[in-house]
Amino acid sequence: MANKFSLVSMGCPKNLVDSDNLTERLINSGLSCLDNHEKADILLINTCGFIEDAKKESIAEILKITELKKGSKHLIVFGCLAKRYRDELLKEIPEIDAIFGVGEDERIVEYCKRIAARRKGDTEKIREKHSPIHRVSSYAYLKIAEGCSRKCTYCVIPLIRGEYKSITPDEILKKAERHISGGAKELILIAQDTASYGKDLNGYDIANLLKDLCSISGDFQIRLLYAYPASIKESLLNVIAEEEKICRYLDIPFQHSEDRILKLMKRGGSRNGYLNLIRKIRHAIPDIALRTTFIVGFPSETEEEFNSLIKFMEKAEFDRLGAFKYSKEEGTPAAKLKGHLTDAIKNRRFDTIMRHQADISLKKNKALIGRRFKAIIDEASKGIAVGRLYSHAPEIDGVVIMENSKPPFAKVGMGKINSSLLKIGDFATVEITDVYDYDLKGIIVR
Ligand code: SF4
Repeated sequence: MANKFSLVSMGCPKNLVDSDNLTERLINSGLSCLDNHEKADILLINTCGFIEDAKKESIAEILKITELKKGSKHLIVFGCLAKRYRDELLKEIPEIDAIFGVGEDERIVEYCKRIAARRKGDTEKIREKHSPIHRVSSYAYLKIAEGCSRKCTYCVIPLIRGEYKSITPDEILKKAERHISGGAKELILIAQDTASYGKDLNGYDIANLLKDLCSISGDFQIRLLYAYPASIKESLLNVIAEEEKICRYLDIPFQHSEDRILKLMKRGGSRNGYLNLIRKIRHAIPDIALRTTFIVGFPSETEEEFNSLIKFMEKAEFDRLGAFKYSKEEGTPAAKLKGHLTDAIKNRRFDTIMRHQADISLKKNKALIGRRFKAIIDEASKGIAVGRLYSHAPEIDGVVIMENSKPPFAKVGMGKINSSLLKIGDFATVEITDVYDYDLKGIIVR
């Protein structure tokens, strides 16, 4: 067969959604998807060019795949890194047959169809067909907008992905329904800024979209990631507080707390403004889990400013926190700032912030012992189930590990979970019995 493709996706969930969409389009165009590069005829890599580490990982993956490129296999590189470094990649890695940027699915599909048809010797034999969404996990990412119109000085996304553009509600709702009928029990809304959704859509906003998603029938939950602080409106908080299907969880990348650094970053926020926003959110939704990310080692960040950032995070007591070491990106205004810090300083500040967060997280986790929560099951095998509470987003937050359980699961194997009773995507009630820095341990009580 000459029309088998494999696709590897690097980087963030937004890239993963792009990869899923392309996979679906290729399958609908008559090609078959394999998870094995060695047997595939067309090897596709969706690259990430967000920060230095991500670039290195994507390049390493391309080089790894070039070793498998024997005979008449085709290697296609696309995505963020491909868009930023098209000429360099083509020059340095001659094994690449074609390179595409972001949002060029149409061209990639046409290219792949041409290869497949050429190899089959008959263009007519490329059939159009409709594929179901195959599901192997409890959740599905749902992209609600492309691009970003903000101008954060360290970020390459607007250069790569262009201006913010909301995907139409109709398209999102249809995709959501397909995910749910395909077995997804959690829809995770993503965009560069989910809270800005609809700003280009005549009055239909994120709160409207969430309400419409909640009205889809079925037992599922919804989670919102990447809400830019200045875009969070009362209507969004109200809908999270009111709708049972929406996880009481908000991911708000604050990036820093100090006014001078926020100004240099062009984030348009302030320490006091952020503390007020956090108070407002917790007042509106008392049990909300708040996640944030911070950039440490931004150019000219002083020791004093870094210490103030630590005080800010201790005051805010975020439930989840991720940190990035500042990465100097070509073409961004921040790359031209004075006072770039050494890797040693960035590493030390990164370790310090994560150590403080581990303490906060452990303290918060300890307060959960003895309490019962609804958990979604992500893995169930060999007598152990791994799941998440409303306060855990997959891949970036902790998990709850469920070992010993009470009936009905305890009826088999001396208190062990009968994995045939628990399936990926099931909801269970779990009682928290023990905690680690980030993960929890519990028993299933229902
Ligand atoms: S909001 Fe700022 S950091 Fe986020 S994608 Fe847009 S420009 Fe980049």
